[in-house]
Amino acid sequence: MKIAVSSLSERPTTLQGTFAPKELELVAVRVQFRDPVQVSATVSRMQEDVLAQGKASTKAHVECSRCLEDVEVDLAGEFEALYVTATGRFAKRMGHPDFAGGDQRVNFYSELTVDLSDEIRQCILLALPIKPLCRPDCAGLCPQCGRNRNEGPCGCKEDAEDDLWAKLRAIIPPGNGKG
Ligand SMILES: [Zn+2]
Ligand SMILES: [Zn+2]
Repeated sequence: MKIAVSSLSERPTTLQGTFAPKELELVAVRVQFRDPVQVSATVSRMQEDVLAQGKASTKAHVECSRCLEDVEVDLAGEFEALYVTATGRFAKRMGHPDFAGGDQRVNFYSELTVDLSDEIRQCILLALPIKPLCRPDCAGLCPQCGRNRNEGPCGCKEDAEDDLWAKLRAIIPPGNGKG
């Protein structure tokens, strides 16, 4: 999302856009981005320094962390970034001993446009769930035969693993694991 700095003023401008995931170089391991990314950003300029605040949302297809089935998730995030030039007001203040930075990310730009693509991509990637589930009570895959247990029982003995530990505990006397 490129914005011509000359088109901006101190009065905040709200911009909307829809971008293909490819345009934003939106990629992540085991995630498929097929839907466009909706962006709404409010951008204002103080001389050469540009402040952008916005929201981005899209959908992605991820793997359920238990059964590996495809799950569609809604992703939404917010971003706030400051774009400054090496000679602008902000950079000058940065060199001042009383300078206290804000919360925003600071990016240097040198062309006549600022590009919000990095911020949009980051906020979408941060919205990805760490352990996505196809449903809260997903039964997952059977560790023995690999069958998806959401589709029904597989007939494997549920307690096979517990039996093994019980046998081991019977063989190894307590306190032997301390070395
Ligand atoms: Zn699942
Ligand atoms: Zn099984």
